[in-house]
Amino acid sequence: MKEKKYDILPNSELKAEDRDLFCDARPVPVSKLNKYMEKLVNWARANSLWFLAFGTGCGAVEVRPLMTARFDAYRYGIAGRPTPRQSGIILIGGYASVKTLKRIIRSYEQMQNPKFVISLCSCSINGGMYFDSYNTINQIDKYIPVDVYITGCMPRPEAIIAGFNKLKDRIKAGNAEGANKYAENFDYYKANQKKIIKDWNMPDYNW
Ligand code: SF4
Repeated sequence: MKEKKYDILPNSELKAEDRDLFCDARPVPVSKLNKYMEKLVNWARANSLWFLAFGTGCGAVEVRPLMTARFDAYRYGIAGRPTPRQSGIILIGGYASVKTLKRIIRSYEQMQNPKFVISLCSCSINGGMYFDSYNTINQIDKYIPVDVYITGCMPRPEAIIAGFNKLKDRIKAGNAEGANKYAENFDYYKANQKKIIKDWNMPDYNW
């Protein structure tokens, strides 16, 4: 993706009194540790997949059986967390309306690095059956970077487990670079977000 400079100060659209409440620093890419430490840390990250289930659409109903006795995703190190600040992964559970996109961005930016995004359902990948809706977005990866896509309408719990395992492999191999992509292409993502969210009244980066 080609980085484009928009020459916009983060938080420039907030009211003067609100700007003081937020940090203007942009996200920065996380540098890698030395070869052996990076491998060890990635092994630990890959086996602690703590995720925020962001139930934006109908696909999210499959997360319940995923976490209960039948599929028991805990045995793979997959655990749901209640807040963005406790989570390393955000799972986008289906179609996202423009209104919801705003909350997705706020939640994603509150998560600490390294962080990963799983896009669940055709609707969040290419619009699915809502491809021409006036109020849903077609591609979540235009607004936040996606590390793993899980297709289907709706994907079964087995598919979600396969998606988590794919993410696990990518983390272990050091290839899950979504958070760095967000930092490196911050202007691109912000411009796309602001283009579609007309009532932009939130901080650009939510430390
Ligand atoms: S892909 Fe199907 S199950 Fe998933 S959000 Fe869209 S309509 Fe719902």
